[in-house]
Amino acid sequence: MSSTSGPGRPQHFAAGGAGRRGRNRVARLPRRARLTASRVLTETGTIQLEFQIVDDDPFDFVPGQFVAIDMNHPRYGYRRSPYCLLDGSEQERTFELLIRRVAEGPVSLFLADLNLGDIISFRGAAGHSMIPSKDDTELVMLATGVGVSPCVCLLRWLLASQSRHTIRLFWGLRLVEDICITPELDSLTEAHPDFEYDITLSQPTDRWTGLRGRVTESVPPLLHTVSDKHFYLVSNGEMIAEMSEALQNLGVSRERIYEESFFNHRYRPDREAVAAVEARFVAADLERPIERLARELARFPSSWRGS
Ligand SMILES: Cc1cc2nc3c(=O)[nH]c(=O)nc-3n(C[C@H](O)[C@H](O)[C@H](O)COP(=O)(O)OP(=O)(O)OC[C@H]3O[C@@H](n4cnc5c(N)ncnc54)[C@H](O)[C@@H]3O)c2cc1C
Repeated sequence: MSSTSGPGRPQHFAAGGAGRRGRNRVARLPRRARLTASRVLTETGTIQLEFQIVDDDPFDFVPGQFVAIDMNHPRYGYRRSPYCLLDGSEQERTFELLIRRVAEGPVSLFLADLNLGDIISFRGAAGHSMIPSKDDTELVMLATGVGVSPCVCLLRWLLASQSRHTIRLFWGLRLVEDICITPELDSLTEAHPDFEYDITLSQPTDRWTGLRGRVTESVPPLLHTVSDKHFYLVSNGEMIAEMSEALQNLGVSRERIYEESFFNHRYRPDREAVAAVEARFVAADLERPIERLARELARFPSSWRGS
């Protein structure tokens, strides 16, 4: 399928037709890459894409960063969306993405429908680094859906740099049919003795033997300590908001929580939802309510506290 024309199809560059900025008004982002591989990983819409950069600019990135990709759709108009890097090579000038085909997401549909050889326009890499600053912390990654992508990128990076982190990944999916890239995760487990992962399904079958429930349900009872860990919360803004607030209420400092929301950015959890998450934690180092009160009071100027 060409991505350039046809009723209802996004307008973009034709296969092999790397238009330049200014000459082609369809895409506005300056960089160009060609699709070299596309693998449908699940029937529920997860696709792995590989691109070869075909412009002359250097490409460098760190785990956690994304590329912004744009397109022009006859119905939706000009659209641009970010996608975290699953992998990449600065030398080979390639990058990989893990994308979810979202029915109401035109850029995701555009990417899912690309043909080998099609050219996309993009910008990046840009965004936050996930690389932990301290070498002695335990990393706990909580990712939903394609949020696993930057986590895998970080895992590969840590493995290559022979880091000493203990890493635990909890990957939240809905259905057994959503599971993919387990060979990759298994090989990372074998190569990295301090890495392990669990998949937790919110709608498991009776035969499913792994974790059950949403990440916010299944993970809290499994953590023996929290205050010494570095948390990565990635993808669904609902999970991120609830988990982040619960962790902070239980004494985890904000600096130890990395957040990257892919969607549901504006979700604000109500007090009951957060309290329900908090109540599931059993860690030995949870801050008690009296300690929390003292910490919150300490944030006010001493004159307000009557001293
Ligand atoms: C920093 C960042 C990194 C991202 N990285 C990735 C990535 O690596 N892979 C990826 O597939 N997506 C990623 N996304 C989401 C991506 O940018 C798009 O939002 C998504 O592909 C939807 O397509 P769209 O851009 O055409 O539509 P949008 O207008 O962005 O979204 C359309 C609708 O789909 C919802 N939506 C978006 N993503 C999902 C999802 N995964 N599950 C359910 N609903 C969703 C949105 O909330 C919105 O209601 C990332 C987003 C951000 C902010």
